[in-house]
Parts: sequence; C-alpha cells; structure tokens
Amino acid sequence: QFISFEGPDGAGKTSVLKAIGEELRVKYGDNLMLTREPGGNKISESIRNIILDPINTEMDVRTEALLYAAARRQHLMETVIPALKAGKLVISDRYVDSSVAYQGGGREIGEQAVWQMNQFAIDGLEPDLTVYLDIESEEGIRRIKTHRTDEINRLDVEALEFHQRVRKSYLNLLEQNPERIKLVDASQPLDKVLQDVKETMLQKYPN
Ligand code: C5P
Ligand code: MG
Repeated sequence: QFISFEGPDGAGKTSVLKAIGEELRVKYGDNLMLTREPGGNKISESIRNIILDPINTEMDVRTEALLYAAARRQHLMETVIPALKAGKLVISDRYVDSSVAYQGGGREIGEQAVWQMNQFAIDGLEPDLTVYLDIESEEGIRRIKTHRTDEINRLDVEALEFHQRVRKSYLNLLEQNPERIKLVDASQPLDKVLQDVKETMLQKYPN
C-alpha cells in the first residue's frame, strides 16, 4: 500500500504526518516506511541541492520540473518500490501531485504538461490513496508567518497569487481523481484534522 500526503504551504502536513506516523508505528512497526521526497538517497539529495541552491537563480522552470521528476524517480527506485515489494505500508510526504501543483500550476508550466512528463518518471506507479490537506492560501501564508520564521523570506518572494495557483491545481487534481485523492479540511484544529485523516485512511483500508 502506497499513500501520499499533499497540500499547499501552511496546511500542517509536517505536524499531521508526525502524529499519524507515530500512531501507525505502534501498529505496523518495521512494516511502515515513512519517507519524503527526495528521500535521503545520495542522488536525489544532490539533485535537490541543485534545485535549492540560491546561486542557481537562472534556473528555468522546466529544468526545475525535470529535476524534481528525476529526484522522484530515484526515490521511487531506491526507497519506495523496495519497501512496497517487502510488503510495507509506504507513506510519502509529497509525490507527483506536488509537481503538478507547484511547477504545473504555481510556476505556470501547465498541469497537463507536468503530469505527462512525470509519467516517464513514475512509470505508472501512482499512490493507492492521496490525502490532500486543504487550506486557503491566505490562511496558509498566515500560519507560516506565525510559526515558521525560517520560511518567511521565501514566502515574501512567492506572491499570494503563486500560492493560489498551487491550491487551484490541487483542487483540479482532486476533481479529476476523486477515487485516489481525498480532501481533508486542514483549517480545522489539529485534533480534528487528525481524526479526519484517520477516518479517510480507514475508509480506504478498513481493519
Ligand atoms: O513539503 P514541504 O513543505 O517541506 O515543501 C517545501 C517546499 O518545496 C514547498 O513549500 C514548495 O515551495 C517546494 N516544492 C516545490 N515543488 C515541488 C515540491 C516542493 O516547489 N514539487
Ligand atoms: Mg512545508
């Protein structure tokens, strides 16, 4: 079973995954693999460093999209697929929908183009379930400004419209993939968000 968690900035994905991960660890033990792109493997980390290096201001948006897809491919081959083959439950913090939303929508390459390009990288391996933590852009930005001072500089650069485009793309993906992607209202208090996430997972995997 392969589950991805998605959401715009400030949705609380990190807090939610930490809490859910701790609960699932009790039940699954070593049969749970919690991972996040780029996944801590050597090649993906190197690619990630190229993307995030502030020196590379000239990076073209399609180059960025291709690099994310390359890092994703390596993470899939080194981490996700071996764990799935070993019968583990794999939960990934971000996957292909992030590229569609951030590069396709946010950077305006086009959702369809980024989706197509990523098919080469994922070769059909879509998550069985995607939990989408939804938050309005204004509220997401407000939360980050309150709680995460380290990201303020980056957020100042990314305009509100960027975050609105990201969210719109996520909502488009949701509409196009209603069986795979399930929305959880992340504007609620964390306890309620966690409860909704658990219910969503139970609906997919009742036991
Ligand atoms: O998941 P996390 O909040 O740590 O993501 C960090 C940031 O990486 C995001 O806020 C986003 O700006 C960026 N990102 C991106 N394109 C992706 C994945 C992440 O721009 N495909
Ligand atoms: Mg984040």
